[in-house]
Amino acid sequence: MPDELISTAPEPRMAANGVQWLSVSQWEKTPWLWHGFSTRKGGASRAYCSMQDPAELNLGLTAEDSKAAVAQNRRRLAEAITGDAATPIITIGQFHSDLVVRVGRAEAASGQARKADGMMTDEPGVLLAVLTADCVPVLVADRKRRAVAAFHAGWRGTLSRIVESGVGRMRLEFGSRPEDLVAAIGPGIGACCYAVGDELLSNFESQFSYARELFREVYDQDPVRIKYPLLFLTQRAPGHSSAGFALHLDLIEANRRQLMAAGVKPESIRSVGGCTSCQRALFFSHRASQGRAGRMMAAIGIRKAAQS
Ligand SMILES: [Zn+2]
Repeated sequence: MPDELISTAPEPRMAANGVQWLSVSQWEKTPWLWHGFSTRKGGASRAYCSMQDPAELNLGLTAEDSKAAVAQNRRRLAEAITGDAATPIITIGQFHSDLVVRVGRAEAASGQARKADGMMTDEPGVLLAVLTADCVPVLVADRKRRAVAAFHAGWRGTLSRIVESGVGRMRLEFGSRPEDLVAAIGPGIGACCYAVGDELLSNFESQFSYARELFREVYDQDPVRIKYPLLFLTQRAPGHSSAGFALHLDLIEANRRQLMAAGVKPESIRSVGGCTSCQRALFFSHRASQGRAGRMMAAIGIRKAAQS
C-alpha cells in the first residue's frame, strides 16, 4: 500500500465536443484499442449543478436527470473516445455481484442491459461501459487476442472477487493469457475518504490473506490527517471505536491485488488516480453528495477494422 493515501487525477483531456475525460497514456500506443474514463465535465445535464454552472456529463439514467440529456451525453462520450457519436455503448444492470457476461452487437442492437457487474467482448465497433460514482471501474485488454472487458467493483463486488473471477472468464472465453493482459483502474473513492465500518475488515479477512494491507486507521479529526497502520484497532475493546479514528478501505489497492492474483503483471496495471470524493468539481461522488449524484462511465472497446 502506498504511504500517501491521497492521489490526484491527472489533467483531463478536452475533446472537440467539450467532453473532459481521462485516458491511460501507455494505452494510446495501441491503435485498435478504444478506452476512456469520463469526468462530470462537458455534458448537457443540469440535474446536479446550479443554474449558473456549466451543464454536466451525467451518463447514468438517474431519477433526477432527463433521459434526453443522458442520451446526448452518451453520444458525446462515444464521440470523444471513438470519433463517432453513433458508436453503440453497451451497459449492464449493475447489482454489486461477481457476475460477468459476454456481450456483443446483439446487446448493442437490443439496448437491453443484462444483469451483471462485468462484461467482455471480442467484437469490434462497440464500447463496453460501467457506470460509477465512487465504486471502482476496472478496464482490461488482451493485447494478443484483441478482447476487452469492463468491471464494476464497489466493496461488495470487490469482496466477491469480481475482477479476479472476471480475468478467469477471459481465459475461458477468449483463451487469454494473463501475461498478455493490461489493466487500468479508474477513479473511485480513495483510501483518503472511504471510511467504513469495522465489520468490513472481518469480511475481507475471511476472503483475503492480505486483507489487513487494504485498510488503514485514519485519525479523521487531525487537520493534516496523520495516517497510521492498524495499530489502534487491536488496542480497543470490540465494538468500541477509538475517538476520532476511522477505518478506511483502499478499493483501488484491493482491485490491483486481484488483478495480480489473477496473473496480470504488476507493470501492466495502471491506476488513473483521483478520488471521487476529494475532487468533487471533477467527479460525481455518491457518498460526498449524500446519494444525489450523477454517474461517470469507464468505457473500452475494439476499433472497427476500417478505422485502424
Ligand atoms: Zn479522497
